[in-house]
Amino acid sequence: MPAADRQLLSDISDLIRLPSVSSFAPDRDMSNRPVIDYLAGRLEDRGFRVSVRDVPGHPGKANLIATLGRGPGGLVLSGHTDTVPYDDGQWSSDPFSATERDGRIYGLGTADMKSFFALALAASEGLTERELSSPLTLLATADEETSMAGAKALAADGGLHARCAVIGEPTDFRPVRLHKGILMERIRVEGRSGHSGDPGQGNSALEGMHSVIHALLAWRGQLQAATRNDAFPVPVTTLNLGRIAGGDNPNRICGACELDVDLRMLPGMTVAEMRSGLRNLVDSTLADARLNASYEILFDGIEPLETPADSELVRVAEELTGAESCGVVYGTEGPFLRALGMDVIILGPGSIDQAHQPDEFLRLDGLHDGVATLQKLIQRFCAAS
Ligand SMILES: [Zn+2]
Repeated sequence: MPAADRQLLSDISDLIRLPSVSSFAPDRDMSNRPVIDYLAGRLEDRGFRVSVRDVPGHPGKANLIATLGRGPGGLVLSGHTDTVPYDDGQWSSDPFSATERDGRIYGLGTADMKSFFALALAASEGLTERELSSPLTLLATADEETSMAGAKALAADGGLHARCAVIGEPTDFRPVRLHKGILMERIRVEGRSGHSGDPGQGNSALEGMHSVIHALLAWRGQLQAATRNDAFPVPVTTLNLGRIAGGDNPNRICGACELDVDLRMLPGMTVAEMRSGLRNLVDSTLADARLNASYEILFDGIEPLETPADSELVRVAEELTGAESCGVVYGTEGPFLRALGMDVIILGPGSIDQAHQPDEFLRLDGLHDGVATLQKLIQRFCAAS
């Protein structure tokens, strides 16, 4: 095995060995500093200017910005350092030890998405500032899998400039230029409980929620009929009714009922518009029912991502990979980088099908080409011509 390949595998292995789970459950949540410090050390050794920034309000969490070269324009290679938690006892091997078998490497974060950092290290190996006319930046963020606090802090800070960004989430190196926006909301309907034998004694929150569901599904139908985007595998806005809970006894009028929904909208719509559209619809549905509606934000949201098909970044990525760009149904940190003025694509090793589950793996056969693709992107957007 060539030395460069051995180095790549050993970097993947090192990164998998550094746990960096992020979780809404405080007992599972971990600091991402070990991964940040590892990358900072490696990049400093290569002459990158390294800045580690604590994420305000999130102790133990940090972002890393490491830059080689100066000037306008340039390319950001970006990834999140955190992983989701793992299912104890359901892995065939230790999730924190990269294990090679059958042409694959297994471990937590192999696909989503620590290996991308190893590929980025390989692609920038040996580069010197003199060769670059525009800066190359490696960006590593915190808490993408939970609050996106890292990306939010970066967007709020500013101070990160580039023309283009590649986020190395697992796409099997197919360029992704679109994703949907996401929000999650809890709707709570409150009425008044009472004896079931006399409906006039109370006011059923459950019957109110029945009207709300009816209205939500009709709204979903209108949204789906109005707008379609065939770049997505699911070409319409979706609205999922994920959880419902209400009432206690059959002989009592239901006093309160909750419904949790997940809304994924096509580019062209914003989180704020959709959230207020949803709340207005529920309020107006219940207006005459003497029921009270209130809302809890379960996930404040990610905006949709859309980088124009004719942007240079998309065209170059399509040319280098030989694959047509497409859309996906999961969210990324892309909209935050786009808000900083960059064209953004999602392009990285591994498949999203293996993410977030036991025995997560990365196939080894595409890695060589992946490093070459990143090298060509660096040449194109950073190298002096
Ligand atoms: Zn990811």
